[in-house]
Amino acid sequence: MSSLKDNPVVLGKDISLEPSPLKSPTASSPRVLVVGGGVTGLVTSWVLLDRGYHVTIVSKEWASHTKAQRLTSQIAGALWEYPPAVCGHHKDAISLHRSKRWSMVTYNIMAGVAADPKLSELSGVRMKPSIFFFCHPIEDDGIQLDKMMDIQKTDIQGFRRDISLVQEHDLDPNYGVVDAYEHLAPIVDTDQAMTWLMGVVQSKGARLLTETIDRDLFECEEELRTRFGADIIVNATGLGSYDVAGDKTSYPIRGGLIRVMNDGKDFPKVTEALAIPADSVHGSDEIVFIVPRNDNILLIGGISEAHENQLDLTLESPIIKRMRARCEAFMPDLKKARLDPDYPLAQGLRPFRTKNVRVERELRKKDSPFAAPSRIIHSYGHGGAGWSLSFGCAGDVAALVEESLKDLPPKPMAAALIRPTFSETAATQTPEEWATVGIKLLWISVLGQSSQWVSRMKMRVTSSINMLLKIRQTK
Ligand SMILES: Cc1cc2nc3c(=O)[nH]c(=O)nc-3n(C[C@H](O)[C@H](O)[C@H](O)COP(=O)(O)OP(=O)(O)OC[C@H]3O[C@@H](n4cnc5c(N)ncnc54)[C@H](O)[C@@H]3O)c2cc1C
Repeated sequence: MSSLKDNPVVLGKDISLEPSPLKSPTASSPRVLVVGGGVTGLVTSWVLLDRGYHVTIVSKEWASHTKAQRLTSQIAGALWEYPPAVCGHHKDAISLHRSKRWSMVTYNIMAGVAADPKLSELSGVRMKPSIFFFCHPIEDDGIQLDKMMDIQKTDIQGFRRDISLVQEHDLDPNYGVVDAYEHLAPIVDTDQAMTWLMGVVQSKGARLLTETIDRDLFECEEELRTRFGADIIVNATGLGSYDVAGDKTSYPIRGGLIRVMNDGKDFPKVTEALAIPADSVHGSDEIVFIVPRNDNILLIGGISEAHENQLDLTLESPIIKRMRARCEAFMPDLKKARLDPDYPLAQGLRPFRTKNVRVERELRKKDSPFAAPSRIIHSYGHGGAGWSLSFGCAGDVAALVEESLKDLPPKPMAAALIRPTFSETAATQTPEEWATVGIKLLWISVLGQSSQWVSRMKMRVTSSINMLLKIRQTK
């Protein structure tokens, strides 16, 4: 398993909850332009502000609290999940490998926030039991088995595998569930959290500007850097990356969630998340996803429709009716549920891409062979896991910002899984790291020399003994 050592973000050490940045920027501190005001853009900005950068966030839209369509980051059920998330489709090996670390960085930060009752209230982040049910033994599905085994090796609290979870939650025993496990997970009330995150970054000094970037960032990089006085540009535009990053492999996966009242009047209040993941064995994308949003709202889902980009679902759409019937069959109490009169159906487009999450520097080269590398850093394609991966990805972006400021050559994401070559290592070493490497090399050479000397001595002693034996035999 990957470790948290790579680019950790630890609450109280690398980021603070104080209104001012951990490290105050000076007039000469580097300036970062973050494009996108969803969870990715805001959390990345928070991490960069606490490292002492000047940050400007430019976004087409911000979180809104009207009845109009909200940001994808607000639509999210925002159940923290160890990857891959229940909505499926997150299958790229490199992205999955990194997502495990990203999700754990986020888990620890969110658990820290939720541990303080006042902060939990303010931020909308709570730790709740989350239960995952399966209609086949977990051992029959390699992906789910790996996920469950991994979960037990991490800091995730409260793991318990127990089929009696079905009876404990008044679920229909005839639904077909044969296996289940639970653990504690952060659940985020996204409207509340987006307001809180905007407040955090503004109080730490971020400048927020409403503007749409309508071109590929690579093509207008110099112009934008000059206009905003930016040393670095971070792309956090989610699905906007189809144009802004020129990434034609970006695509939406439509999701929908029915919102019902969870005030305990119609059925016993649901206080934990209950889910049946997309089925990698039978290829079904029609998941069960029941998540208590805040004190009064319960989200009922879900669906996962790849390449659907219209937000035209209604409560009468066949797929939504099937989703509701599926959840009611699973948890019969839901038949008594009343819809949220203000906002009965939330729908949004999960920002996927073929190779899943991209946290990477721009790899395209400029025309002149003498030009410095692009200073654009991408963080998009988080699919159904933008909240779960938020702080982990932001830590990697911060490391890429440092690398990019030195104009070091960019490396593709895949490079992290490949042992770096000597020249790659050389290019990224600081003087202190070089000193450590030097001492290690000296040790290796001393040990190598001494082991060579020991084996030479062994050979000499063995051959002398053999000679003596031969002489004795001839006598
Ligand atoms: C139904 C549903 C359920 C989900 N459930 C979960 C869950 O349980 N857990 C979880 O972790 N995640 C979940 N997600 C996924 C999560 O919502 C996304 O992964 C996350 O919102 C991605 O955040 P983002 O900031 O990258 O993108 P977005 O939220 O889409 O934000 C992008 C921002 O960029 C701005 N922008 C876009 N284009 C431009 C441009 N050209 N110029 C300037 N600004 C631009 C937008 O205005 C916006 O502010 C769910 C999503 C859906 C739809």
